Amino acid sequence: MTGTGWISATPTGIHLPGADVWIDPSQPVAHALITHGHADHARGGHGRVIATAETAAIMALRYGQAPETQHAVLRQPIALGDGISASFYPAGHVLGSAQILLERGGERVVVTGDYKRRQDPTCLPFEPVPCDVLITEATFGLPVFIHPPIAGEMARLLQARADHPDRCVLVGAYALGKAQRVIAELRQAGYGEPIFLHGALARMCALYEELGVPLGPLELVEGQKRDKLAGQIVLAPPSALNDRWSRRLPDPITAMASGWMRVRQRAVQRNVELPLIISDHADWAELTDTIRELRPAEVWVTHGREEALVHWCQTQQLRARALELIGHEEEDD
Ligand SMILES: [Zn+2]
Ligand SMILES: [Zn+2]
Repeated sequence: MTGTGWISATPTGIHLPGADVWIDPSQPVAHALITHGHADHARGGHGRVIATAETAAIMALRYGQAPETQHAVLRQPIALGDGISASFYPAGHVLGSAQILLERGGERVVVTGDYKRRQDPTCLPFEPVPCDVLITEATFGLPVFIHPPIAGEMARLLQARADHPDRCVLVGAYALGKAQRVIAELRQAGYGEPIFLHGALARMCALYEELGVPLGPLELVEGQKRDKLAGQIVLAPPSALNDRWSRRLPDPITAMASGWMRVRQRAVQRNVELPLIISDHADWAELTDTIRELRPAEVWVTHGREEALVHWCQTQQLRARALELIGHEEEDD
């Protein structure tokens, strides 16, 4: 392994022992750098937090204000102590998401956090950052995971709505990132009708709008007459798809927007009639193309299917290892 003795990968997160700073720790710590707002990366209870302004706002909404928060300005190094600096670069995953470049003594280590390479109207695009060591996520790190273009998935959603004017299309989407991306993509596809929301999605959508991501007309399902919802698109968190809440809707066509919808069994488990393969993570081609492009001396793989990507790196004559971090959850897909 290279001389990265100043970084240690522990089960609770990536630690910089000399500066006593953690990245995305799964437990409360005194000083944390946070890549983005998903619950498996951003937790409450830290003392000092450094994150982009958007991620800090998302964390404040979810956990209340941290005792001390510093907003990272993109691409500007922040000194952490022990000769280490950290700079944040866009990751293209959800609003505010960032990769973190760590530098010490001329050595460059990039922690991708979660990322994708595809265009997303709700966040800045991923920027490739040259490095010696790449610490990459691998949520969809198997060759079978190739996400289709999103335009086709949106077209299937709009077609289902047009074909069934007496029903509504109920789309399961996680509250941070996926819901807003589906809405913004519908707007890009020319859909100007009100989109109806489960109450659990409302606050995050409002925050996205406050932070400059327009989502068009949104209304709450709560208080609407059942027939007013016929022919409409309704968004709800995945947990609401099959519960009592959905009984108020007119004969819903159940859809779900997730990278996991590639796996038929997952769609069946959730009684999903219309699986939409829409992911905010890099698919296999994006993961491997990014590693080829950056050509780091070494790759550390975490958050997902580590083994296949480690093996692939070895076939490319790249040194690679799997990190075993705990606490990865599927809010994130
Ligand atoms: Zn994640
Ligand atoms: Zn995430």
